[in-house]
Amino acid sequence: MHRFYIDIRRDKSDRLLQGIERVTPALEKAMAGEELSYDDGIQLMREENLFLLGAAADSLRKKNSGNTVTFVCSYYLNYTNICAASCPLCAFYRKGQEADAYTLTIEQLLARARIAVNDLGATELHIVGGFHPKLGLDYYERMIISIKKEFPHVCIKALTPAEIFFISKLTRNSVKEVLSRLKDSGLDALPGGGAEIFHEQSRNLIVRGKCSGEEWLDTARQAHEIGLRSNCTMLFGHIEKPEHIVDHIIRIRELNKDTNGFTTFIPLKFSLENTELEQKHMIQRESPSTYDLRVIAVSRILLSDVLNNISVYWIALGKKLAQVALHYGGNDLVGTAFSEEIFKATGKHNVTSTEELINLINEINRQPAQRDTFFNVLRRF
Ligand code: SF4
Repeated sequence: MHRFYIDIRRDKSDRLLQGIERVTPALEKAMAGEELSYDDGIQLMREENLFLLGAAADSLRKKNSGNTVTFVCSYYLNYTNICAASCPLCAFYRKGQEADAYTLTIEQLLARARIAVNDLGATELHIVGGFHPKLGLDYYERMIISIKKEFPHVCIKALTPAEIFFISKLTRNSVKEVLSRLKDSGLDALPGGGAEIFHEQSRNLIVRGKCSGEEWLDTARQAHEIGLRSNCTMLFGHIEKPEHIVDHIIRIRELNKDTNGFTTFIPLKFSLENTELEQKHMIQRESPSTYDLRVIAVSRILLSDVLNNISVYWIALGKKLAQVALHYGGNDLVGTAFSEEIFKATGKHNVTSTEELINLINEINRQPAQRDTFFNVLRRF
C-alpha cells in the first residue's frame, strides 16, 4: 500500500487533515497505482479538497521523479509572426501588412542562434512560428541544415505538430514526407504547441484555421513512429469545461502508451491580454490560481506511470505560482526560454536566467538540475 494512503488514514488527527471524512475513490485508486478512468478524472476535477488533491499529486511526483527539479537552457526562435490562421486565443499573429509583421531570413536565424549558443550557453533551440502561407519546405530544411552545420551539438526542437500539419497541406506533401525530410536535415525533436484543447466544443471557439485535435495527435504519432520525440501541451483557463481537460489528458495518455514518444506534458495557462477572446469579451479574466494548481495536479495524477514529467510553464503562471505548482505535481520548470515572443505578446514577463531558475528551486528546498531536451541531467547545482 502506498505511504500516502496510509498517512491519510493514520493522520486524521493532523491539524491539516481534520475534517476529511472521505478520500475520493479516484484518489485512492491513484495512490494504489491503478489507472484512472475518464469518470475518475472528472471526480478529481471536482474534488473539493484542493490540498488533498495536491498532496496526492505531489506524492506521485516524488515517486516518479524524486526531489530534483529540472530545466533546460533554451532559446526561442520565433521565425515569423505571419500566420494564415487567426486564432481568437492568439496575440502573436500578424497578417503580413502590419508594421511589426516579420519573417526571419536564414542569416538572421543564424545570427540569433550564435547569440543563443555562444553568448547564452543554450543547449536547445526551440523554433516555432506562425503558419506562413508562402514559405516552402526548403525554407525549413535550410534553416535546420544551416544551424546544424554551425552548431552540430545543439538540439533543434522545431515546428509543432500543428505547424508540420500546415506545412504538409501547404506543400502537398504527406505529414510523413515532411517529417522525414526535416529529420534528414537534422531536426532532433518537436515542441508540443498547437495542441490547445482537443475537444471540439472548446477548440472550435478558440482556434480558427488550425488542425483538429485528431490531426494534431496523428501528426505527433507519426513523428514518434520515425523516432522523433516531442513535448505535448494543453492550453487551459479559457472556455473549457472540466470534461475537456480530462478528455485531453487521457488522449495524450493513450497515445503515449502506444508510442512512448512524449518527453513531458506542459499544461499552459491561457493568457488573455491582446487576444480576440478578450476583445470580444468572450472571457473576462484569467483563471484563478486554485484552478491552475488543480489542472497541474490532475495532469500528474492522470498521467502517472505513463509520463514521468509534468512541466510548469513559469512564463504563463508567474514565478511565484510556479514554485507552488512544483508542490502540485510539477517536476520541471521547462527552461530559460530566452527571447520568447508568444506569451510576451500577451504582456507576460518572460525574462529569467539560469541563476534565477536555480534560486527559485533552491528556495523551495528542491534540487536544481540542468537537463537536455530529453531529460538527461547535464549539471546539478
Ligand atoms: S495560435 Fe498559432 S496558428 Fe493560431 S493564429 Fe497564433 S500563430 Fe497562428
